[in-house]
Amino acid sequence: MSDVKSDIEIARAANKQPIQDIGRKLDIPQDHLLPYGHDKAKIAAEFIKSLADREDGNLILVTAVNPTPAGEGKTTTTVGLGDGLNAIGKKAMICIREASLGPNFGMKGGAAGGGYAQIVPMEDMNLHFTGDFHAIGAAHNLLSAMIDNHIYWGNELEIDQRRITWRRVVDMNDRALRQITTSLGGVSNGFPAEAGFDITVASEVMAILCLANDAADLQKRLGDMIVAYRRDKTPVTCRDIAADGAMAVLLKDALQPNLVQTLENNPAFVHGGPFANIAHGCNSLIATRAALKLADYVVTEAGFGADLGAEKFLDIKCRKGGLKPKAVVLVATVRALKMNGGVAKDDLGTENVEAVKAGCANLGRHIENLKKFGIPVVVSINHFIKDTEAELQAVLDYAKETGAEDALIARHWADGSKGITNVAEAVVRVCESGKADYKPLYPDEMSLFEKIETIAKEIYRADGVTADDGIRRQLEEWEAAGHGNLPVCMAKTQYSFSTDPNRRGAPTGFTIPVREVRISAGAGFIVVICGEVMTMPGLPRKPAAETIRLNEKGQVEGLF
Ligand code: ADP
Ligand code: MG
Repeated sequence: MSDVKSDIEIARAANKQPIQDIGRKLDIPQDHLLPYGHDKAKIAAEFIKSLADREDGNLILVTAVNPTPAGEGKTTTTVGLGDGLNAIGKKAMICIREASLGPNFGMKGGAAGGGYAQIVPMEDMNLHFTGDFHAIGAAHNLLSAMIDNHIYWGNELEIDQRRITWRRVVDMNDRALRQITTSLGGVSNGFPAEAGFDITVASEVMAILCLANDAADLQKRLGDMIVAYRRDKTPVTCRDIAADGAMAVLLKDALQPNLVQTLENNPAFVHGGPFANIAHGCNSLIATRAALKLADYVVTEAGFGADLGAEKFLDIKCRKGGLKPKAVVLVATVRALKMNGGVAKDDLGTENVEAVKAGCANLGRHIENLKKFGIPVVVSINHFIKDTEAELQAVLDYAKETGAEDALIARHWADGSKGITNVAEAVVRVCESGKADYKPLYPDEMSLFEKIETIAKEIYRADGVTADDGIRRQLEEWEAAGHGNLPVCMAKTQYSFSTDPNRRGAPTGFTIPVREVRISAGAGFIVVICGEVMTMPGLPRKPAAETIRLNEKGQVEGLF
C-alpha cells in the first residue's frame, strides 16, 4: 500500500484555479472578492449584507458517532459531500472551521479533510491562513492589557483583582502558560496577580466572531463580555473597560469569511473555529448564512460526536441564527463502531461482525437523538480499505432498521466526488422530501437547570444531573440577572454519552455531574462543565512539530 499518497502529497498536486474563478462560480462580483494571494480571498461585508433578501439554500449538517482514536472523517465527508453534490449537478458549497496552530504542532493533524476530499491550500489553511486567529488573539489580549492598565491607573471600577476572569490567549499548545503570575518586577510594572493563558480557539472572542450577525452585533457582544467581578460580586464588562470598539476594529477583516476551494475546484468557506467543549464548535454564522444565499446546497460540520457537536449546532447556532437544516449526515466508520463495540485499537484490522453490531448501539442512539430535532438522518459510512463486506452490510442493515432515511457506503477519501454521489443523491432526495421540521430540543424559557437536565436525559440518556447547591444558586442568580433565556453549552468528554470516556457504545445507568458553570455573556450561552476541560492543551512527548520542516523546494513537509 506504499502507493497510498499522504494528504499533503495529494493537496500539493491539486490543480487549483485562481480564487477569482471560484468566486465567479458563486457569482461574487470581483470587487467584492478580496484576494489574499492567488488561492484565498475574503468576501466583503457589504456584499454579504446585499444578499439579505435572497432565498436560502438547503443546509446539511455533517456529524458523527462518538469519536474513537480510530478516526471518523467528518471533515473528509463534509468536503467529499460538497464535491459529490456538485458532481451531480447541484450548486453546492462547503462551510468548515479554520485550524488552530496548537494541535497541528501537537498531534491532531490538519483540519482540511483527507485523501481525495480536501480543501486547498491545505498548508495555508493549517498555518496562518488569512490571519483571522492572530487577529482574534490580538483583540483578546488588548482587553487583557486594558484591564491591567485600568487597575494600574487607580482601578476606578473597583475590580477585585482576585476575581479577574479574563485570561490571555495564544494559538499554541503551551502548558507552561496555564497558570502564571503577571506584573512582577516592581512598582512600575503594576500589581502582581495570578493569571494564565488559554489557546486562542477557547477565547470567547472566537465564539462571538462565530455567532455575530455583523460588525455592529460583534461589537455589542464584545461589550457584553464579563471580564471580572467587584468585591460585591457585581460584574465588570468589556464595555466598562471601553475595549469593545478597538477590539471590533482589530476584528473587522477577520469577520469576513474566507473563500477557498476543494481539490475539485468547488467553493468552500473556511471561517472561525471555536473550541467544541467550552464553546459551540462550528464555523461562523456569517459564513453559513452567506453560503446559504450563494449556493443551493451548503454542507457544514460540527465538532466532536453528534451528542455534543450536533446538539450545540442545533441548540445554539441554529437557534440563534434562525437556521433550519434540511438533513443530517451521520458519519460512521466500521472501525469506530468496532471500538464502540469493545474492540481494542490494535485489533481493528481483523473482521469482527459481532463487535460492529454491538457498536451499532452507539449509531442507533445518535439517529434517534437527531430525529428529536425534527431532521431526517442519512448515515454515511466512511469506507476504510480494511472494512469487510459483512461488516459494512451489518452497519447498513442496522441504520435502516433504526430509522435512518438512508444508509450508504461513501468512498470519497479514495475516489473523490465519484465515490460519494450516492450519498449526495440521498441527501438531495431528503432535502426535497420536505420532511425536515427543525426545532430546538428545549425552549428558551425553560430554566437553566432544566435545560441541562433535558440534554442529559434526552441526548445522553442519563438518569439525571447532579450539582451542588453553589452551582444551582449560580444558575438562579444568572436567571435573576436576565440570562435565563440563554442556551447551555455542554462541556464533557467527546468519547462517551456519559462523562466517563471509557464507557463507549450506548451506556445507561449513569448520572451527569456538573462540576462548574461559567457564563459567556457576549457569545450568549452558559457553559456547563461536566468533567475535565482543557482550555490550554500541552504538546505530546513527540510533538508533530519535530518533523515539520521546509524541503529543498521550499515546500512544507510534515503537516498531515
Ligand atoms: P474529523 O473531522 O472527524 O476529525 P477528518 O475528516 O479530519 O476527521 O479525518 C481525520 C483523518 O482521517 C484525516 O487525516 C483523513 O485523511 C483520515 N481519513 C478520513 N477518512 C479516511 C478513510 N476513509 N480512509 C483512510 N483515512 C481516512
Ligand atoms: Mg473535522
